[in-house]
Amino acid sequence: MIEYKNVVKEYPNGVLATDHISLKIEQGEFVYVVGPSGAGKSTFIKMMYHQEVPTSGEIKVNEYELEKMKNSEVPYLRRELGIVFQDFKLLPRLTVFENIAYALQVIEKKPEEVQKRVVRVLDLVGLSHKADSFPNELSGGEQQRIAIARAIANKPSILIADEPTGNLDPETAEGIMEIMERINNDGTTVVMATHNSYIVNEYKHRVIEIADGRIIRDQEGGEYEDEI
Ligand code: ADP
Ligand code: ADP
Repeated sequence: MIEYKNVVKEYPNGVLATDHISLKIEQGEFVYVVGPSGAGKSTFIKMMYHQEVPTSGEIKVNEYELEKMKNSEVPYLRRELGIVFQDFKLLPRLTVFENIAYALQVIEKKPEEVQKRVVRVLDLVGLSHKADSFPNELSGGEQQRIAIARAIANKPSILIADEPTGNLDPETAEGIMEIMERINNDGTTVVMATHNSYIVNEYKHRVIEIADGRIIRDQEGGEYEDEI
């Protein structure tokens, strides 16, 4: 469960990136966050995993009240979240297998458990045969599938994705969406910021539209027309 109450984020330079945002996302929902560049989508998303801290207002993610959270608690919040970025952020010197395993080792999973989970998530994203490849040997779409596998390896309750298809061609983006849908069907909440109107209109879900830091629309099964 994610709940924002009157969340304001003003950056030190005076930019008001979110302006009294309030909303609730229930466990298991699939939510698109749409809107033009500079609308505040990334800021909205970054506050969800405590990458940015609100100027005022309250954010609750599962049992965590983010405005009361100590820095030492942030890693525990992040264990309940899977995060995927537009630019994948895979570690270039590690193989696909090691990239995913590493994410589990840092949270002290036992070696047998790590092995089992890496095998399972690679299968889920259809890339078991690439386990020993390095990121630069993979296409963009494959790298993003690995980044998703890494994000869900710890069975997060919420998957957060900021423009996950932003660097991918349309067909590859569809492959990513099929995986996102499967993850959501397993009960994981998905929050996805996107510009991709084709995706939003093809895979219908709740649409939260942001403009100038405010929610201007919150619509189940909504459509989206990107500005060209
Ligand atoms: P979007 O993801 O919709 O493109 P952002 O959340 O990145 O929007 O940005 C919202 C506004 O906040 C923009 O005007 C942007 O320039 C500004 N902004 C984003 N990050 C920072 C920052 N770290 N410092 C100052 N201003 C920022
Ligand atoms: P994204 O498109 O993923 O939101 P951006 O290009 O908006 O990424 O931002 C890249 C980095 O620069 C982020 O850390 C963001 O917070 C920061 N940033 C964005 N806009 C500004 C700004 N106007 N002033 C300072 N930092 C900014």
